[in-house]
Amino acid sequence: MLTDSHAHLYWKNFDEDRPAVLARARAAGVTRMIVVGTDVASSRAAFALSAGEPELYPTAGIHPHDSCAAGPAERAAIEELCARPECVGVGETGLDWFKNFSPRAEQLESFLWQLDLARRLDKPVVIHCRDTHEDTVRCLAQFPGVRGVMHCYSMGPEELAPYLEAGLCISFSGVVTYPKNDANRAAAARVPQERLLIETDCPYLAPQGQRGKRNEPAFVVAVLAELARVRGEGAEELARATTANAALLFGLPSSGSAGLQPGSVSSPSSSLHDPGGRKKKENGAGLEPGAPG
Ligand SMILES: [Zn+2]
Repeated sequence: MLTDSHAHLYWKNFDEDRPAVLARARAAGVTRMIVVGTDVASSRAAFALSAGEPELYPTAGIHPHDSCAAGPAERAAIEELCARPECVGVGETGLDWFKNFSPRAEQLESFLWQLDLARRLDKPVVIHCRDTHEDTVRCLAQFPGVRGVMHCYSMGPEELAPYLEAGLCISFSGVVTYPKNDANRAAAARVPQERLLIETDCPYLAPQGQRGKRNEPAFVVAVLAELARVRGEGAEELARATTANAALLFGLPSSGSAGLQPGSVSSPSSSLHDPGGRKKKENGAGLEPGAPG
């Protein structure tokens, strides 16, 4: 069983064949996916999609690119979504000085607001960081103890320390398979196994071999294989570890009995770690069928 810890499955370029995409994922062993929202509309779409599918779990947040379009009304909507028991994380948030689609001051303000929200709700935060290492670390330093993941970690081993010291998980994407990314592979070799996650960030960042195509959750297998290679660990072992790490971080049922007996899962670590996640599980069967889209 594999967990794609970051998938934008509501994206319009999945509209034509989403059931087939999900079927291919499950056939490849990728049975669990975190569906990550990036603004109010996409977060609502993530919730609607996850309500109708097993083992899909939504987050809600405002991506740095969208931070300039998010005022008080949008933040209130995101906060309401994040507080729902079925919501497993806050974000995608973070900073992006590469594209700078939103002014830096607004990105910073939005990131700090979501870090605070994650801490208030005791939910993990999903962090995007592109050319913003120092500012990201500075923001995180204001929220000691906040839980979360550096999503699509694309830097090298030199930048890892502050994120590991902050207690964050590190998630690798198809970027780790690109021939030029030796530094990213060196980082992947150094992350402690209990902090490691894998993701596609689909529809973006298809792994080498599928590059240029639309990415999809089934392709996370290539990320796992590359991590196994550079770390000298078995793919099976890493599949188990990354799925268990995602379950612990996002408060999902323990992987052994995932999806079999709602409400009966009793992973001591996940229940201790994230009472909110347990609540999600207990309420999981009662998700209203026509959840708002
Ligand atoms: Zn993303």
